[in-house]
Amino acid sequence: MMLNSILEKALSFKRLNDDELLCLLEERENIKDIARAADTLNLKINSNKVSYVVNRNINFTNICDLNCRFCGYKRTKKSKDAFLLNYGEIIEKISEGKNAIGIDEICVTGGINPELKPDYYFNLVKAVRDAFPDIHIHAFSPQEILQLSISLGKPYAEIILKLVKLGLNSMPGTAAEILAEETRHKICPEKLSKAQWVEIIKTAHSLGVKTSATILFGHIETNIDIVEHLSLIRRMQDETSGFTEFIALPFISLKTSLREKVNSAPIPDRIFKFYAILRLYLDNFKNIQTSWPKIGVSAALKSLECGTNDFGGTLMEENITKSAGGTFGEYLSESEIINLIKSAGRIPVRRDTLYNIY
Ligand code: SF4
Repeated sequence: MMLNSILEKALSFKRLNDDELLCLLEERENIKDIARAADTLNLKINSNKVSYVVNRNINFTNICDLNCRFCGYKRTKKSKDAFLLNYGEIIEKISEGKNAIGIDEICVTGGINPELKPDYYFNLVKAVRDAFPDIHIHAFSPQEILQLSISLGKPYAEIILKLVKLGLNSMPGTAAEILAEETRHKICPEKLSKAQWVEIIKTAHSLGVKTSATILFGHIETNIDIVEHLSLIRRMQDETSGFTEFIALPFISLKTSLREKVNSAPIPDRIFKFYAILRLYLDNFKNIQTSWPKIGVSAALKSLECGTNDFGGTLMEENITKSAGGTFGEYLSESEIINLIKSAGRIPVRRDTLYNIY
């Protein structure tokens, strides 16, 4: 009865409160009802359309000074497979993406490499912008902005504005992981704090720089942690309207030090329920993205019936999930994505990073 009233409330566009969110998270029996309600709500908001972006991920270094316990990507400088891309290599990757599949966005992030001077970041943006005046540069997580701010002794706003002047368009809202201090401290003790993440994102939004919003789930977080995280993100969106989409990233455990603490990767039903709850609770997010590199293509297609409306991107390369033990590949062509979305009975629409439809 309680569940039905929550679902009816969401379906009549009334905002769910945090107790109702917790109730949905704790529901174990009627998962299909939650998914069905999320699908109905999504169809009311986005009709039958599913968007995607033609983009390329560029991870410029895997050398990292931090030790996040969910990470299988980082390497030390001495590791045999450590790498740091120079600008020529980055430009070459973008050229390849443009020529092969017509990318219009690059998503650029890397490890927190102690040897990289701030100029590496600024000149990277400038080099890309000089070579590709029209490409959308979606780059640098709040963690990287924090590093630049510390290195230069300058406020976040100054760092972000300088990057924007050089050509940055938007930022990934990654490094959020779980925005609940105790659990955050257990899984990524050296990462920026919740307060720092919030301040950097709000600063970006205040300067007109849009970001995504993310969560890493399926590790050691509690339902209370998830409520804290989603409630904060929803309040921030009320305040700034600066988030373009919400991306929920299931924890891939195989090659990470957190794996002993987690019995298994989140099971598909839990993932579908999670996506559905996002749709029902995040009433100020039009776009909820599924993640085919993390959950696989068939689960991503099924998630389109659970409230998600965005299929993500072509990516071309995806090192971070693969390094953690993900096995679902790194590239889907645009035509593959179109056909997959059609096979799910939805209408594919190509978008840009800011969700303008072509
Ligand atoms: S998640 Fe990012 S910051 Fe953390 S260890 Fe891995 S590469 Fe470094």
